[in-house]
Amino acid sequence: MIKYILPNCVLLVAVIIQTAYGQNSETSVENIKCNYCHKIIIEDYFRLDNKKYHQDCYRKYVQPRCSYCNNAIEDAYNIYNQKNYHSDCFKNFILEKCDVCGAPLEADYMVDSWNNKYHDYHLNGSETCESCGRLIAKKLTGGGLALNQNRHICNICSGSLITEKSDIEYIKNKVMAILQNVGIVNMPRSIPIKLVKSQIELDRMSTIRLGDIHGYTKYEYEKVNNKIMGESFQIYILSHLHKIVFEAVLAHELMHVYLFKNNIKLSSQKREGFCNLGSRLVYEDYNDQFSNIKLDLMKKNKDPDYGKGYIIMSKILKQNGWHNLLINLEKW
Ligand SMILES: [Zn+2]
Ligand SMILES: [Zn+2]
Ligand SMILES: [Zn+2]
Ligand SMILES: [Zn+2]
Ligand SMILES: [Zn+2]
Repeated sequence: MIKYILPNCVLLVAVIIQTAYGQNSETSVENIKCNYCHKIIIEDYFRLDNKKYHQDCYRKYVQPRCSYCNNAIEDAYNIYNQKNYHSDCFKNFILEKCDVCGAPLEADYMVDSWNNKYHDYHLNGSETCESCGRLIAKKLTGGGLALNQNRHICNICSGSLITEKSDIEYIKNKVMAILQNVGIVNMPRSIPIKLVKSQIELDRMSTIRLGDIHGYTKYEYEKVNNKIMGESFQIYILSHLHKIVFEAVLAHELMHVYLFKNNIKLSSQKREGFCNLGSRLVYEDYNDQFSNIKLDLMKKNKDPDYGKGYIIMSKILKQNGWHNLLINLEKW
């Protein structure tokens, strides 16, 4: 979110000075000259910022005019994008309106990734949608719902949640195809996927730190004479994720399956960075605003594994392409 600071109101201080000579005087002893026409001033005149003007010169050529209503500005005004406005014109017609309450954004305000603008104070006591990051508000998202104390979904996203096992098979095939495209092949035939109710449950069963990934892959195998005989995979994903996020998490977990299946051992940083490349493929495939915001967040993530690891693996991918990345995975 970016915080915007608004321009302050400026007070126009132009004063009319009464000359002692009045209108009878032909010349001024002081030889006051108009800053606009450079002729001598013999009548009452205007002074603005130590510059002096004939009343006519001032009114016609110097006095600022409002860029909205075109009338002369007499007192308080705002300068915005090099244009002058009466402070009322500025407030009512130029200032953007708050997307949450509809009032003009007179004070400092926030702009979120969706380009929604709102007063910063709406952030207090409001929830943010865990999928899209929008502030949950009637005017902005049509409200939203709480899945539990920590999980809130806005009503723009609430129709896209993955809650049923029956939603998963189609998604799995779609994500597998995206991964196949870059060479993630020879995947196990059966990879059951289970929806998990809470992140706590997910963290509890995980043997690795999950960062902000809402999924976990369990790998079990049987070894006979140092040879892997039977192996099984099980993917667990947090329930009620937005469809696009679900696909990205699934892609991440399928990359783990690929590593297990090929017995590729990487440091946690390279491992999670590599698996996040799978999520990236899903987001790039969608290439919509939602996914681009997610891609941006992945890049900005400060986590040593999920964030920095992702940057490192992205760089290696950029320099070498998928084919070389995959055949040399353990060497990088
Ligand atoms: Zn003049
Ligand atoms: Zn005006
Ligand atoms: Zn507001
Ligand atoms: Zn949302
Ligand atoms: Zn992972």
